[in-house]
Order: sequence, then C-alpha cells, then structure tokens
Amino acid sequence: MNIRKGDTVQVITGKYRTKKGQVKLVLREEGKVVVEGVNVVKRHIKSGRTQARQAGIVEVEAPIDVSNVMIVCPSCGESVRVGHREENGEKVRYCKNPDCGKTIPDRTGWQTRERSAAEER
Ligand SMILES: [Zn+2]
Repeated sequence: MNIRKGDTVQVITGKYRTKKGQVKLVLREEGKVVVEGVNVVKRHIKSGRTQARQAGIVEVEAPIDVSNVMIVCPSCGESVRVGHREENGEKVRYCKNPDCGKTIPDRTGWQTRERSAAEER
C-alpha cells in the first residue's frame, strides 16, 4: 500500500468520485483508508452506551478501499501513480507523472507511522 496518513487523495470511483481529501487513517490489514469528507455515513448513538455523548446521529467517515483512491501529488497537483526509489539511502515515494517525477513527502514519517495509526483506533 502506497498511501500514508496525511496524504491528499482523490476518489476515482463511486459516489464520491473526483472528491479530494486528506487521509485521516490507514487500515493496513483491511486495505482501506479513511478520507476526510468522503464516504460520510450517519451513525446512531444510543443513550447510555457512551455516557459522554448525547443520543442522536453523528456523521463519520467510513473506510473505503484503497483501490478507490489515487494519491494527489503535492508538486503537480494531479492524481498520480506512485513509484518507489531510494534517496540518500531511504526509500521514498515519487510521482510517476512524466512531467513531474518529484518525491512525494511522507507526512507521518516512517518510524512514527504505525504508532500514530494505532493511537487513533
Ligand atoms: Zn507530480
């Protein structure tokens, strides 16, 4: 999976097609991502179950399959395919748009990524 938390992605299929948003959470095992403002569903909250919240309806983003999104390159602004290459001994992602080819920064960091994803669950 090429997508990291903090990436901007574009939805390429379904109801939210062409919509862009930031990845809030990566569910590595399920192969899914949660994207800000995409696949918003209403959840009914029962009173008594969570005492901190009132009963009612909240809107939350449900995970979508990673195959339904493409990364938006921060350099060229296009939704692009992503490749991997080594840079200064580190594995980095890059934009496969032939007019661009810039490195796509990992906004979470390779070391802290797993931990922060776990914390958000
Ligand atoms: Zn690019």
